[in-house]
Amino acid sequence: TVTVEARELTRIYGGREAVRDVSFTLNKGEVLGFLGPNGAGKSTSMKMLTGNLAPSKGSVKICGIDMIENPKEAKALIGYLPEQPPLYRELTVDEFLAIAARLHRVSGSHVKKAVRIAKERCGLTEMGGRLIENLSKGYQQRVGIAQAIIHNPMVVILDEPTVGLDPIQIRDIRNLIKELGGEHSVILSTHILPEVEMVCDRVQIIHKGQMVFNGSIDILKQQR
Ligand code: ADP
Ligand code: ADP
Repeated sequence: TVTVEARELTRIYGGREAVRDVSFTLNKGEVLGFLGPNGAGKSTSMKMLTGNLAPSKGSVKICGIDMIENPKEAKALIGYLPEQPPLYRELTVDEFLAIAARLHRVSGSHVKKAVRIAKERCGLTEMGGRLIENLSKGYQQRVGIAQAIIHNPMVVILDEPTVGLDPIQIRDIRNLIKELGGEHSVILSTHILPEVEMVCDRVQIIHKGQMVFNGSIDILKQQR
């Protein structure tokens, strides 16, 4: 099943093309690496895929639902961790995840269960009562991933989720992302090639706003 279909996504900022004609499809349960150096157009692409930025041209469909025609329905199928995670640092993990669940329209009677499952999946079961501001960066990023999966979305989109973490935290977050692949389609935006090789099934390389490679990790390795 196709969960994400991007067609000719293009974004122009002030006359300059930041992203040009990005097209791809993603299947259920796949982990796709979206690889490129800083400024290549990754965040711009992620924002268009999640409906947070209007494309200048092109379209996004999530499980067949058009993002421009039916934004509410399409967005409900996506979990998103932006590069700057929207954490409310003065809240506890439980309080924040409960709010995230409500924002994602999890019904009142299911919020507690959604929070418990998301914590379990992200290794946060013991952390529910802790203030987010008192957590390490690695645990804060787990909370960022937990809020992205709180409504059990079809598609999870993570923008540079390991930036600024130490090596142990990076390893743990990568393992966590890999595990998400079983249940969700995942798009991992990153500038780190080994991260893609470790975590992803397939990779797309974006360079100066355009896709320059799309294929399996094995083919990528052979080309090196
Ligand atoms: P990446 O996430 O790969 O680092 P971005 O998508 O953030 O790349 O940026 C792609 C290009 O678009 C860069 O040249 C960047 O300067 C430009 N850009 C990004 N956001 C804006 C904006 N809001 N206004 C103008 N230019 C932007
Ligand atoms: P019930 O069986 O009690 O109706 P659901 O299966 O509908 O409960 O789950 C309640 C909530 O828990 C869902 O709305 C969803 O947000 C969340 N949830 C369920 N399964 C998962 C999962 N695998 N990952 C993340 N959240 C989940």
